Amino acid sequence: MKVYKEKEVWFVTGSQHLYGAETLKKVAADSEVIARSLNEAGNIPVTVVFKPVLTTPDAIYKLCTEANVERSCVGLITWMHTFSPAKMWIRGLKSLEKPFLHFHTQFNQDIPWDTIDMDFMNLNQSAHGGREFGYICSRLRIDRKVVVGHWHDTDAVGKIAIWTRAAVAFDESRNLKIARFGDNMRDVAVTEGDKVSAQIKMNYSVYGYGVGDLVKEVNNTGDAEINKLIIAYGEQYSISKSDLGSDSIREAARIEAGMRSFLDKGGFKAFTTTFEDLHGLKQLPGLAVQRLMEDGYGFGAEGDWKTSALVRIMKVMAKGLPGGTSFMEDYTYHLDPKGMKVLGAHMLEVCPSVAAARPTLEIHPLSIGSKADPARLVFKSASGKGVNVSVMDMGNRFRMVVNTLEVVDCPEMKKLPVARVLWKPLPDLKTAAHAWILAGGAHHTGFSMAIGKDYIADYAAMAGIEMLVIDENTCIEKFREQIRWNELYYHLANGII
Ligand code: MN
Repeated sequence: MKVYKEKEVWFVTGSQHLYGAETLKKVAADSEVIARSLNEAGNIPVTVVFKPVLTTPDAIYKLCTEANVERSCVGLITWMHTFSPAKMWIRGLKSLEKPFLHFHTQFNQDIPWDTIDMDFMNLNQSAHGGREFGYICSRLRIDRKVVVGHWHDTDAVGKIAIWTRAAVAFDESRNLKIARFGDNMRDVAVTEGDKVSAQIKMNYSVYGYGVGDLVKEVNNTGDAEINKLIIAYGEQYSISKSDLGSDSIREAARIEAGMRSFLDKGGFKAFTTTFEDLHGLKQLPGLAVQRLMEDGYGFGAEGDWKTSALVRIMKVMAKGLPGGTSFMEDYTYHLDPKGMKVLGAHMLEVCPSVAAARPTLEIHPLSIGSKADPARLVFKSASGKGVNVSVMDMGNRFRMVVNTLEVVDCPEMKKLPVARVLWKPLPDLKTAAHAWILAGGAHHTGFSMAIGKDYIADYAAMAGIEMLVIDENTCIEKFREQIRWNELYYHLANGII
């Protein structure tokens, strides 16, 4: 299903004039077949657009500059059907601002043993044409994606599908605006960071507002809009009649309407709040944040704009895939040696897209923040595979850390009035938490059961940021070593940026 049908990747084939017009005609025809096949692959979520075969430096440069300005184009897939002398690509690749994937494939799957002749050999040269192209990309130090395999190979096409989702998310981050209501939670370190560096690297921009600006919008909400939301709450969630008619729910609806209106007027797709700065709001926005997240907005609590942006980016990658994506926090451990687990939750703000069943809408006091009792959706998550992702400002660079998880069923916790998720981190809790802490990974994460580590790796490569993976293969000694080498690599590679 084309969930981003307005977005395109351009299928670009490299060749040259050496082989004559007939061969070039066949190259174009074959390329069109492959482009069409990728476009029709059910898991590729964007439109794959066939582009005429490139045979000169001028044509390559022109295509790359067109890709830069075409808003619908999120990236290129390049393929060398024949040999395409790669000096021709230098000017174009140096100017290209969109990510690209080098598809190292060939038209025929098998060698036609009985009929193969030199004409066939001249036409089907990707085995060495792809190497020439690979050399110039490496010589230019461009971190592109490489996928190897026949174009019918479901594993190869699956990798392309993941990369296109990351490319759409990278495109989203170029246009992403984050609204910050209030500043950071006082004294907290990991949620801080350099917003200028973040914009240079990850392109999104962060806009600060006094909470009073939001309060004004909340107070402008009319009764009709509030009543409409209360009816929706009654339909979507389990809630008692008396609670549904309470002042607390009415106030939660007012906050939701005001927040949504503020974000939409400003073109914001992500936001942060902080319980330390709620002046003029009667309760900490819980239900409002949960419902906005479910509609695709990114969120980070306590002023955490990096996680807010990350949650939005992960939600864009995950669009249309089964499984939810949420803001998350590692809250408390189950350290039973027979099966160690992490209980993930937040004060209120976990996205109902991860819920196993219909949430209940409840009103309970909050032990911090000294405000009125806030409304929140309470549920447990579905089980299955998941990831936690964190992004931190390490001073000289941003680091992403990903941990793969096995999300398990939550036992009943009758007295816990918040949404919750229970998981076993891979390879095991001791190793995963050890590695996460060595990496400086935050307590806040983007959590998803819809996407895996490969999506995040493709995104991190596009943004040119450090990426550390904690999964079934993690060994602490190797992980420490990787961190140490990365310190040196990024110090040298980043120059003065
Ligand atoms: Mn928190």
